[in-house]
Amino acid sequence: MPRLSEYMLPTEKQAPADAEAISHKLMVRAGLIRQMGAGMWTWLPAGWRVHQNVVGIVREEMDAIGGQELLMPVLQPAEPWRKTGRLEIDELFKLSDRKGSELVLAMTHEEAVTFHAAQTIRSYRDLPQIVYHFQVKERDEPRPRAGVLRTREFVMKDSYSFDRDQAGMEERYALHVGAYDRMMKRTGLRWYRVEGDVGMMGGLGAHEYMAPCPAGEDEVMLGEDGYAANVEVANASPEVEKMGEDRYIRNGRPLRIEPAIEVGNIFKLGTRYSIPLGASYLDEQGQEQPVWMASYGIGPARIVAAAVEQYADEHGISWPRALAPFAVHLVGLGRPGTPERDAAEQVYETLSGGGIDTLYDDRDLGPGEKFAEAELLGCPLRLTVGRRTLESGEIEVQVRRGRIAAAGIPLEGEPGGLVRAVDELWQGLP
Ligand code: ATP
Ligand code: MG
Repeated sequence: MPRLSEYMLPTEKQAPADAEAISHKLMVRAGLIRQMGAGMWTWLPAGWRVHQNVVGIVREEMDAIGGQELLMPVLQPAEPWRKTGRLEIDELFKLSDRKGSELVLAMTHEEAVTFHAAQTIRSYRDLPQIVYHFQVKERDEPRPRAGVLRTREFVMKDSYSFDRDQAGMEERYALHVGAYDRMMKRTGLRWYRVEGDVGMMGGLGAHEYMAPCPAGEDEVMLGEDGYAANVEVANASPEVEKMGEDRYIRNGRPLRIEPAIEVGNIFKLGTRYSIPLGASYLDEQGQEQPVWMASYGIGPARIVAAAVEQYADEHGISWPRALAPFAVHLVGLGRPGTPERDAAEQVYETLSGGGIDTLYDDRDLGPGEKFAEAELLGCPLRLTVGRRTLESGEIEVQVRRGRIAAAGIPLEGEPGGLVRAVDELWQGLP
């Protein structure tokens, strides 16, 4: 577990001049991300830990519904994209190699996965299947914005299901709805599942997972009865009546509109890709049939940014515990060689040895600066060891959410006691 004196966490007092979104400002200030160009971002070590916490949750839920993880390339031949009619999309980066072959940088992987399905699926016995990967997507976004909320390169978990018929596709789709609901619940975000705009994907149904927050570019319409829909979808629905500027009712009850970030999107594709790319199977009668597909995307970067947006206060980030880069931010206040410093070192060893993710601030800085940085980074628990600890015999504990001072933990005593006390506090956190 890292010592801050040796860790790449370049915090900043000022947010970037062009930053408007809270997540953009705070993630840069806390040393989680750094920009390299328009829509091109590096995840620094602490930021990547948060990103990978989301990846871990998503992977577990995908595996739980029988998803098989694989990895498809970003650099691809243009040919399958020509066949599906998507080579003309403006967001698609096109390039050529030294021999002049036409290539693209994948913005999504329907073409790739269907290309493989066409090679590998032969008969009804090969179905159903769910495959997924975590892979970089490249998109020439017209307006990259807001830090990692809309970038030109980002990691997506995309999964694809293959079935014999529409009923099978609906079954795989329902499995994904369950998995996505559980993923969202586990992240600790506030979220809605709304009926999506089927749009140009020309599909048979879609849902979007939305995280409400001020920086969101989308809008969701919400009813007190649990109704939740994308604004475009709600507007097109016969049940929803527009009463005036931003005033809507449904079944006589008022609806409210909230800005939100789309963090996930799932689509029933039907045979939209299998027919042009020749993904078919032989049924029990030996008849050739097109494979029925659906695709399911989720963006870890947007989940991270949405968590920052939803829970930040004027002091900084406040991570839900499932996403936090570290469980404990340990602030040591003594200079090297002092008894309080030795005590802090001891606590650090005990926590790390006890399997608690701990970031140890062992730097030669004043308490004010250390506390401010801990609140900026937003780990759920802050433990402080200083001269006061030696006098009182207690490690000071602050719960980041709400900045609540919790009961102190005894400094002396067997190491297991400290680890258990931290674990207990942890279980009660949001
Ligand atoms: P948007 O409408 O916001 O452009 P999209 O409909 O293009 O999103 P999808 O193609 O469905 O998004 O991608 C699936 C998921 O990938 C999204 O729900 C989001 O989490 C993530 N994602 C999409 N575009 C970006 C981007 N430019 N930067 C970061 N994450 C993205
Ligand atoms: Mg888009």
